[in-house]
Amino acid sequence: MSGTVNELPRVAFFDFTSCEGCQLTVLDALQTHPELLKVVNIVEFREASSARSEDYQIAFIEGSCTRPGDEERLRKIRETAVYVIALGACAHLGGINAIRNRQPLLDVRQYVYGDKAEWYDTYPARAIDQVIQVDAVIPGCPIDRDEFVRVVTVLLQGRQPKLPDYPMCIECKLHENICVYERGQVCLGPITRAGCNAICPAYGYGCEGCRGLVSAPNMESFQEVLAQHGLSQAEIDEKLSLFLTNQTLLEKELVHG
Ligand code: SF4
Ligand code: SF4
Ligand code: SF4
Repeated sequence: MSGTVNELPRVAFFDFTSCEGCQLTVLDALQTHPELLKVVNIVEFREASSARSEDYQIAFIEGSCTRPGDEERLRKIRETAVYVIALGACAHLGGINAIRNRQPLLDVRQYVYGDKAEWYDTYPARAIDQVIQVDAVIPGCPIDRDEFVRVVTVLLQGRQPKLPDYPMCIECKLHENICVYERGQVCLGPITRAGCNAICPAYGYGCEGCRGLVSAPNMESFQEVLAQHGLSQAEIDEKLSLFLTNQTLLEKELVHG
């Protein structure tokens, strides 16, 4: 797809509660794939440009919804864009922002804001699809730049991007990594969606689950495995809460008050 700049698909990037690392990864991807800039017209991208626009077809959203005011902004993006894509674990899952959902909200506010806690209207962190319909997801913390390029290419071809729906272990074995369990570590690979080339196990670290759960994970068996490797229930809960709070059974125990 190519044409004059006015004929190109208009793309906007928006950020909510996040560290903006996924937007930085997009900037990285655009440097190694400058050809993308010839096939889209980026009309809003705060991290890289002062341009603003209320006219776009494709919206990438980074970050979680953490305040009542975020909801209105998200609905406006949804009304404007033909395609909405959640960018990264914060947008896809609530990400690390959702860790706080396990504790009483007032405690968290007071810890961060001290005696000004009441000034802030923050509430439990939510994934974007808990507020508006999302058409596609690019998982990860941060996103994988090659996957970003693939998803954009597929979208521009008018096709629906599909994520791998098998566990990280398959990808890890294909790369012939030594399983970190063999080294006495633990890893969330058996329940995590593949697609990052098992990069953490490739460097000798256990997967922390930043791409979210694979469909129909066997959580019961997996927790048994973690227990057999010496983790207490509290340690298992902690392990599952780094990225998976909103996706796991822990949600039943969340304290939203
Ligand atoms: S998913 Fe990770 S890298 Fe991306 S914005 Fe959230 S915390 Fe930052
Ligand atoms: S290191 Fe993790 S992802 Fe790799 S095979 Fe072992 S459990 Fe699976
Ligand atoms: S191996 Fe796991 S934690 Fe590491 S990037 Fe991939 S999904 Fe995220």
